[in-house]
This record gives sequence, C-alpha cells and structure tokens, in this order.
Amino acid sequence: MCGSRTANGRFRSAVIAVGMRENPHLIAVVDRSRCEARGPCVDTCPTKAIRVRPVPDEVKSDLGALSRLKLWVHGGEQAFVDPEACLGCAACVQVCPENALGMRKR
Ligand code: SF4
Repeated sequence: MCGSRTANGRFRSAVIAVGMRENPHLIAVVDRSRCEARGPCVDTCPTKAIRVRPVPDEVKSDLGALSRLKLWVHGGEQAFVDPEACLGCAACVQVCPENALGMRKR
C-alpha cells in the first residue's frame, strides 16, 4: 500500500488512490452563511476531516439574523473542518450543493 500517515494518523493513500492532489498550504473553510449541513462533503473527504455537528453558541453569536434563521431551519447543525486532518485536496469544495466550502491559505 502506498501512502503515509497524516499528523493525526489518518492515511493519505485514499487521496492518492482517487487522484486528488494534496496541498499542505491550503485548508478547507466553511461559509457559515451558506452551509445547510447536507453532508456530501462528509462522505467525500478522504480523511474524514469534516463533521456535521451542532453549531456552538459562540459561533452562532457571530452570525447575522438571516444566517441564524437559516441555521435554525436546517436543524442547528453545520459542517466543521478538522485542520489537523485536512489535506487541502479541495474535494469537498467540488461536491457542496450550497457552494459553502472554499479553500484558503493556512
Ligand atoms: S480539502 Fe476538504 S475533502 Fe480535502 S481533506 Fe480537506 S476537508 Fe477533506
């Protein structure tokens, strides 16, 4: 098996196997005004770096009124990226139906 372990012990071989390209200088970010917790990013991420979970109060307090309403309508959950596990491959960006994922420099 080719591949190596990331800092948190997850294999990179899945990324290599499907032809995705790692980029250690990038990390996935979630647009809190767009995410509807629909979840294809969770299934697509080769290292399971994305989890859909309840949005903490400190994050909610930074949202505008419309985003808070949208969050409530969609069950109070959104996607969160584990920075230690993200390989910067951008696979999640390509599958999000809400265009809620993007990449930024680390
Ligand atoms: S860029 Fe997205 S799909 Fe790729 S490892 Fe990071 S969170 Fe997962």
